[in-house]
Amino acid sequence: MSKKTENLIDIRGLKKYYPIHSGVFRKHTADVKAVDGIDLTIRKGECLGLVGESGCGKTTMGKTILRLHDSTDGRVYFDQSPEKIEELEAKVAAGDLDAATKKELSQADILSYKGLSLKELRKSIQIVFQDPSNSLNPRMLVKNIIAEPLMIQGILKGKELEDRVVELLETVGLSRQHLRRYPHEFSGGQRQRIAVARALATNPKFILMDEPTSALDVSVQAQILNLLKKLQDEYELTYLFVTHHLLVVKYISQRVAVMYLGEIVELSETEDLFARPLHPYTRALLSAIPDPNPENGTEKIILTGDVPNPLNPPTGCRFHPRCPYATEVCRTKEPVLESAGEDHQVACHRWKEMA
Ligand code: SF4
Repeated sequence: MSKKTENLIDIRGLKKYYPIHSGVFRKHTADVKAVDGIDLTIRKGECLGLVGESGCGKTTMGKTILRLHDSTDGRVYFDQSPEKIEELEAKVAAGDLDAATKKELSQADILSYKGLSLKELRKSIQIVFQDPSNSLNPRMLVKNIIAEPLMIQGILKGKELEDRVVELLETVGLSRQHLRRYPHEFSGGQRQRIAVARALATNPKFILMDEPTSALDVSVQAQILNLLKKLQDEYELTYLFVTHHLLVVKYISQRVAVMYLGEIVELSETEDLFARPLHPYTRALLSAIPDPNPENGTEKIILTGDVPNPLNPPTGCRFHPRCPYATEVCRTKEPVLESAGEDHQVACHRWKEMA
């Protein structure tokens, strides 16, 4: 197997439900199904873009993988061999989990990590949030913000710690002179550079980029994107890049997953997705990108209505109330992801007619 196709993260049946309690006795009456049974792999060294409208569950999915939210169900394997994963998945499917298998699962599935194993995992998985104004503590000096993960993990101290912080600042295009300043003394782009430096501190393998350029001025977005690209190459990082901005994903990602109402509806190499979008939802998202040449006459697909309530998702295909191509089968039978070519999968009953 080539290095490019090795998986760093293998997600199986991931669910994140938020329970609703109502009545005098606060009984559990329903669930908001933010993430509803996702299978997805993230390859070593790739940037996987995750796109979809606000409220589709993409950030919740990322944060559940990172253990910032507790999962409802499913497993997330981090840097495990495919053989080990298949062996464990076969046992899970058979429903016959003896004590030895449970122990193996607790070592391989990061959703079950606790205590020391979770602390150790945190060195390898990091996050860069959307808005650095909120994610950086305004009362802390930059040197302490960046040093904090190294101190919590007990990795470095004293002079070595300060040298590492300076090295990280220089890596993101800042310098020693910024050590003793507070976040408010920086521009938005510089603050995001500090957040990236902090995320890099523990030499992670995987970084969740949660809309890292959305809160920045357009002129600064390109600089941060170029920085993230450069760092990915230099440090062989793996990114899950969550965004609703399709042109950003086109620029930075090797593959793209399209999410709708808690599910992945299309997954493809980036170039193929933009050249050959198959799911009607993906087509609608792509058609909303402004075309700089109005004479091209690009057809706009206007989606009617909002994303349905994940408390009560539509039956069959969840996109059917908004899909211009929906037929009877779409209202009753849920489509599953199926192969639509090399490295391209789609969940739609009618993709072949539309290809
Ligand atoms: Fe539209 Fe039917 Fe395909 Fe869903 S399954 S996207 S409703 S055509």
